[in-house]
Amino acid sequence: MTKLSLYLRDVTKSQIINDPDDLKCGRKFLILINPYSGSGKAPKIFKNQICPMLDKSGCHYDVITTCRRNGAFDYVRECPNLYDWDGIVVVSGDGLLFEVFNALMNRDDWEKAIKIPVGIIPGGSGNGLAATIEWSSGMKNLQNVVLSCTLNLIIGDPQPIDLVKITLPDKIVYSFLSIGWGLIADIDIESEGLRFLGQSRFTIWSIYRSLVPKTYRGVLSYLPVEYPDSSDTQKEHDSGYEITCDLVVQSYSNAQANRGDEPNDLSPLAGTPDTCTNQSASSRASDSSLKGSSSDYQSLDDTVNDVCNNGYLQSDADMPRMDQKVPPSWVRIEDDFIMIHTASQTHLSTTVRFAPESKLADGIIWLVYLTSKVSKKNLLQFLASLEHSGHIDLPFVNIVPVRAFRLEPLDGSGTLSIDGEAMKVTPFQAEILPSMGRIFTKTTY
Ligand code: ADP
Ligand code: MG
Repeated sequence: MTKLSLYLRDVTKSQIINDPDDLKCGRKFLILINPYSGSGKAPKIFKNQICPMLDKSGCHYDVITTCRRNGAFDYVRECPNLYDWDGIVVVSGDGLLFEVFNALMNRDDWEKAIKIPVGIIPGGSGNGLAATIEWSSGMKNLQNVVLSCTLNLIIGDPQPIDLVKITLPDKIVYSFLSIGWGLIADIDIESEGLRFLGQSRFTIWSIYRSLVPKTYRGVLSYLPVEYPDSSDTQKEHDSGYEITCDLVVQSYSNAQANRGDEPNDLSPLAGTPDTCTNQSASSRASDSSLKGSSSDYQSLDDTVNDVCNNGYLQSDADMPRMDQKVPPSWVRIEDDFIMIHTASQTHLSTTVRFAPESKLADGIIWLVYLTSKVSKKNLLQFLASLEHSGHIDLPFVNIVPVRAFRLEPLDGSGTLSIDGEAMKVTPFQAEILPSMGRIFTKTTY
């Protein structure tokens, strides 16, 4: 048994990887590293922890260290030889992954490109998707996430992941994690200046923001998921979030049609990022190459429609244009909000398990909102409870599983946060695109 497999066995506390041949891989990756993410440790994490594992498993990889915001977006959107790789790997927080998914969706060949498996290795301050993958595969202590995310690349499987299409007045963007206005978005964006603290910046700013809360007037409209007691959207936590499977399942091609053709941009800048390193790992056998490898990305699509708990039911009648009134099937609330925040995955960060019932591809956006009736003490209680999902039992927290929602800010203040990225506050509409992307997860070991 190799040192590596012994090490992995030790770390994962399991006997599952006991044959060194299990770790022979031969997969080929494009690896994007953000030296700005978190407290700047991503390049070091890559060199010290990820590289040795990839090398020992016979993976091949090309490495790009981003040199500016949107560098990865431009590179992935324009790259002519994208299909040479079996996957695109991000060593960063969620922001760089946001660039990658948006780049894939903005390519001329987006229908094929969005099926390229994407991997995430946490190197940022917000690592919501890495924590989600870890959690969803049963690794509940969220330790050694770097190690197990690297392992996912080597011997894991690409699985479907929901994306959310967000129609803003001037562009469309795609989210894989969260959309927020108010408290949590403020904490995320306003704590940027404390980036050197890593994810502790969120804790410090949480305390400050709950002591000095702001309210935001707006109209929130949403299309609820049909599940028991969904007519009472305020509190149904006691019964849990049992999502029934007797909903209409939308076909994958409808989701594609929903992508829309409007022009998009993450404000791409000219040029491409510097390619700082171009390495190839020593090649051993490549006989166990990626299941859904480049020519075969679409093969996974057949599994999409049988994701029974997708429950996706969008039809044109349910989904208005932004300039149309919402249909009667939607719920509409005008209020002073402290926070409106949605998640399409369980974790917003390693320490915030926001939507505990969420699945990678359940076809659901989990909508959580607080109104101005909540006291400062309750706000502190809410923030303190997020790590262990205690907020779902708090009587003043409203949690609604939805297919789509619209937010119309009436005073234009605050910040809109999409996957942790700051956007100007404008009216927008969001809808789920079930199983649109592919992500490396832990399913074969
Ligand atoms: P974190 O979790 O620490 O916020 P992210 O991956 O979210 O890390 O990245 C933070 C931001 O850094 C994103 O907006 C991303 O677009 C941007 N970015 C990527 N590469 C660079 C770079 N080389 N310099 C500055 N910003 C960058
Ligand atoms: Mg970020």
